[in-house]
Amino acid sequence: MPAHDVLIIGAGLAGQRAALAAADAGATVALMSKVHPVRSHSVAAAGGINAAINPADDWRSHAFDTVKGSDYLGDQDAIEIMCEEAPGEVMHLEHIGVTFHRNESGELDLRPFGGASFNRTAYVADITGQALLHVLYEQILKYSEKVDRFEEWFVTSLILDDEGTCVGAVARDVRSGRMETFTAKNVILASGGAGQCYKPTTNALICTGDGIAQAFRVGAPLMDMEMVQYHPTCLVETGFLITEGARGEGAHLLNSDGERFMEKYAPNKMELASRDVVSRAEQTEINEGRGVGPDGVGIYLDVTVVPRKRTLEALREIVNIGKDFAGVDITREPILIRPGQHYIMGGVKTDINGATSIPGLYAAGEVACVSVHGGNRLGANSLLDTLIFGRRSGEHAAARAHAMPMPSVGDQPRTRDSAMIAEIIGRERTGRRVSEIKEELGVEMNRNVAVFRDENGLRHAHEVVRRLKEEARTAYIDDRGTVFNQDVLGAIELGYMLDCAEATVIAAIERKESRGAQFRTDYPERNDDVWLKHIDISRNGDDVPDVFYSPVTITQWQPEERKY
Ligand SMILES: Cc1cc2nc3c(=O)[nH]c(=O)nc-3n(C[C@H](O)[C@H](O)[C@H](O)COP(=O)(O)OP(=O)(O)OC[C@H]3O[C@@H](n4cnc5c(N)ncnc54)[C@H](O)[C@@H]3O)c2cc1C
Repeated sequence: MPAHDVLIIGAGLAGQRAALAAADAGATVALMSKVHPVRSHSVAAAGGINAAINPADDWRSHAFDTVKGSDYLGDQDAIEIMCEEAPGEVMHLEHIGVTFHRNESGELDLRPFGGASFNRTAYVADITGQALLHVLYEQILKYSEKVDRFEEWFVTSLILDDEGTCVGAVARDVRSGRMETFTAKNVILASGGAGQCYKPTTNALICTGDGIAQAFRVGAPLMDMEMVQYHPTCLVETGFLITEGARGEGAHLLNSDGERFMEKYAPNKMELASRDVVSRAEQTEINEGRGVGPDGVGIYLDVTVVPRKRTLEALREIVNIGKDFAGVDITREPILIRPGQHYIMGGVKTDINGATSIPGLYAAGEVACVSVHGGNRLGANSLLDTLIFGRRSGEHAAARAHAMPMPSVGDQPRTRDSAMIAEIIGRERTGRRVSEIKEELGVEMNRNVAVFRDENGLRHAHEVVRRLKEEARTAYIDDRGTVFNQDVLGAIELGYMLDCAEATVIAAIERKESRGAQFRTDYPERNDDVWLKHIDISRNGDDVPDVFYSPVTITQWQPEERKY
């Protein structure tokens, strides 16, 4: 039975950064991922990472932009830490080998991004996530004596001892089907977001909210779950992302009248207002009949106004995406886009060191809610969040492991999870297919828990999610084998997604105001008197989650009206 000071579940940017930090602090580390680490979803990140590197910039300006972007729901102590530590973290990445773009003077080039008052997004063309992830993975390989890698292992549950302390996890070796207990003094969840609750989404198939649901199931509160980000520029047909870097480079948004309509909604920042604002503006244009494309369901993104040479150099991936997935050469003609689900601001509630309410359990990256993004994340702040709070979690978990005995864990959790998997594999084909239920969930969430929401739609979504939860209990799969049985993992992931979706819907019903990504057409105003607070959700014994509130931490920026 493997035993480590720190078990890290997830090997995207948050997990790998946590592993390196914990190992540097002297801990024995296990790094686990259900896919090969460099196939983690972080590899898809495109546009860049924010840091106030330019001497004329200031981390306080970055922090204020982030607070404003969050619609004042972000916790300002955490935001200050993230922004102050950002330049050091980006320079560290540069020193270990990330080939950030440089300007003609040889300094790091910084591109404009949404909601930012200064050019502060460092980037590697439009493959920033890939560049970062591969460089960190090279470091992980160098640390092979300190970090044990468990690649293609799928965690099925967290293990708590009788005192309620987290002491490990049960996992399945995807290649063989073998179940194993992993004992650990500390567990760090770095298992990413839950975008697959929606269809379409920009998120990879692996983003199924596993860690959020696993933490929720053992009693850790979730926070800000109603805050789901729709990105303004996703391909209409597939939901694929066209990076905000395109607008950062100067691309325009046009309606059916050929009008740059952002002038009406955000006259100062135009296309570079924050994502919630731009997505709502696009959806309003579409809803009011000024959309373009078949049935008027889209908006044009015009990249032709960016010099072609620059597009081919700094946006080369989206040139390929345009050609391969929409048949459009973006250097020559506008491309049809619309808002699409992209990111969840909510997640497992943590403090500024990644600690959850459960001793021994940490969370970092998109699985976590610190909360640095509050009601709306600024573009290029997520990669930063994964690295800063991944590192802090690794350091704190390693410190906690010092002078602590290795816990002892019995075989009961592994036996229970093995039985759970055997039951799924053995199901008769009488219920619905797992994939059908997932499809219905995604379509419903995208219809009623999207850019614009109201009580009736949200209540309908809740009823659908509750019914799908029932149906999931008997949902069947086809693969009855043990080797690479992705089918059975898909059934387990469906349960995780349904838990995440229910928490999202409950929180969205609860918040009777409009703030950040949550726009309630029946409560169109922000109401600081009542709702300047986080909504926390935790499980109780009856399968009906408890809802409670926690205060927003305000340090130096009092809430004011948000204008771009
Ligand atoms: C298309 C796209 C472009 C983006 N561009 C940017 C950008 O330019 N800048 C920016 O700041 N942000 C960007 N983002 C957001 C950002 O990429 C993500 O929020 C961030 O990379 C998440 O990193 P993470 O480490 O938290 O999780 P991930 O990278 O998603 O990693 C999760 C890890 O957990 C593992 N895992 C999950 N469940 C289990 C389980 N049950 N058992 C074992 N392992 C498990 C996975 O295998 C994986 O290793 C973008 C997002 C998308 C979708």
